[in-house]
Amino acid sequence: MSDIQRTLVLLKPDALQRDLLGEIIRRFEFKGLKIVGLKFIRLTDELLDEHYAHLSDKPFFANIKKFMMQTPVVGLVLEGFEAITEVRKIVGSTNPRQADAGTIRADLSMNVPSNLIHASDSIEAADAELKRFFNDEEIFAYEKITDRYVLGEGV
Ligand code: UDP
Ligand code: MG
Repeated sequence: MSDIQRTLVLLKPDALQRDLLGEIIRRFEFKGLKIVGLKFIRLTDELLDEHYAHLSDKPFFANIKKFMMQTPVVGLVLEGFEAITEVRKIVGSTNPRQADAGTIRADLSMNVPSNLIHASDSIEAADAELKRFFNDEEIFAYEKITDRYVLGEGV
C-alpha cells in the first residue's frame, strides 16, 4: 500500500523572472499532486543558512544564498502518493544538463544555481522543511472531486 505524503517545493527566483511559475505548477497539477499550501516567501540569510546547511562548506554557498534572495520565492506544499519521491522525479537532477529529458530542470533550465526549483529529498527533509516554511494554518486539507480517480479506484 502506497503512502500519501506531503513535500515542500520552492519555485526559485529564476522561475519567477522567466515566467515559468504557471508551467511548473501545471506539471504538478497534471500529475495529480494536490496543492495543499501556496504562498510567497521572502527568504532571509538566517533561513537560507538553515535550509542550505548541508552546503555551508561549498564554494558556491554565498552565491546560492544571494541568488535565492533576489526575488520572493513561491512555496508549495504538495500532497500525493509517495509525493516526496514523485516530485523529485518530476523535478530532475540538480545539474539541468544531466537531468533526464522530460523533467522540469532538463526541459526548462540550463545551469546551477538557476535550476528553477527546490524539492525535499527525503521524509526527514520534508518534515523539517515543511515546518521551516509553513505554519499548520497555512496547510489545507480538502477533498477534490477528482480524488477518486487520482487516489482511488475511480468508482
Ligand atoms: N547548487 C549550485 N552549484 C552546485 C550544486 C548546487 O549552485 O554545484 C545549487 C543549486 O541551485 C541546487 C542547490 O544549490 O539546487 C542545492 O543543492 P543540492 O545539492 O541540495 O541539490 P538539489 O537538492 O536542489 O537537487
Ligand atoms: Mg537538496
